Amino acid sequence: MKVNIKDYNLDELKQVITELGEKPYRAEQIFKWIMQDNVTSFDDMTNLSIELRNKLKEKFDLHVFNILKKQVSKDGTKKYLFDVLDGNAIESVLMEYKHGFTICVSSQIGCKMGCKFCASTGVKFARNLTSGEIVEQLLAVERDEHIKISNLVFMGIGEPLDNYDNVINAIKILNNQKGINMGARHISISTSGLVPKIYKLADENMQYTLSISLHSANNKKRSQMMPINNTYNIEELMEACKYYINKTNKRISFEYALAKENNDNMQDAKELVKLLKGMLCHVNLIPINKIENGKFTKSTNENIIRFRDYLNEKGIVATIRRELGSDIDAACGQLRKKEVEKCKPTQKQI
Ligand code: SAH
Repeated sequence: MKVNIKDYNLDELKQVITELGEKPYRAEQIFKWIMQDNVTSFDDMTNLSIELRNKLKEKFDLHVFNILKKQVSKDGTKKYLFDVLDGNAIESVLMEYKHGFTICVSSQIGCKMGCKFCASTGVKFARNLTSGEIVEQLLAVERDEHIKISNLVFMGIGEPLDNYDNVINAIKILNNQKGINMGARHISISTSGLVPKIYKLADENMQYTLSISLHSANNKKRSQMMPINNTYNIEELMEACKYYINKTNKRISFEYALAKENNDNMQDAKELVKLLKGMLCHVNLIPINKIENGKFTKSTNENIIRFRDYLNEKGIVATIRRELGSDIDAACGQLRKKEVEKCKPTQKQI
């Protein structure tokens, strides 16, 4: 099986290319062809000798995704279903904001977390995505749309901190100035709360934004929504968040999906204020999206606004997230692997 050349960060690529008997600057040229020029064949790397191109073809693969399906929402959001070339498929979502394009990427094929309100749940976990496959989601959309994407969020299918090393390496690749050159400030990682990995992240010394899927300040309620709370409860999660803030001096974004008659009343808001008071943070309120067979339904607009206003009054900065792509099941929690069975991705012929 050939190695996906996109899995290497530039330092690793330099080493691999040197081992092939080439000068390290060749690695920079190759990296640029892949990450900036977004080529889909080694033959397009025209400043390399034919001999080197052939050597690369023998050993490596550019792992170019096929688009199995593309849906366009009436608000312009686009959802892609990609064939990842081993019989599996994943989804990515492209959103356009005033400041540019944001891609929401998947980090795993399936998810082990089992959150009760999320559509990625209920689909068997298949495997982690490699760093090259994470980056290829951005590259494939850029090729298809003829655009440059400025922001990336790990909020698609999967728990990014459950695929820690590949996610960190993907960020290193995205950051590199000789390639995509996406500033770490333009990257967000969202986690359901894998506490030991939050400590590890804090020690990385990287500048991305951390989002925590909180959804309730009450252990009983949070455990009912998110089984991970039985392993790492709210107190342990908050300890890790405080460590993270102290270490990085960065604000954490807490995500709170509001479900009717579940976590949206004033008592819930009070508990949330008590929990977050004095912390360097921001609360992102998400009107919960209903999923098939899901028991949670969206709060009324009135309740959502009342919840936000209460938090703001008490000195906790809270905003309501815009709902994008809900008509094509591309909004938070609506990505699913079900499409995979319908579209039958190909087994790659090598
Ligand atoms: N596993 C990671 C990232 C994927 S989910 C995490 O849990 O954070 C990205 C965000 O969408 C999370 O905040 C998640 O809680 C939220 N989400 C999931 N399902 C949702 C739904 N049905 N409605 C609204 N938000 C949802």
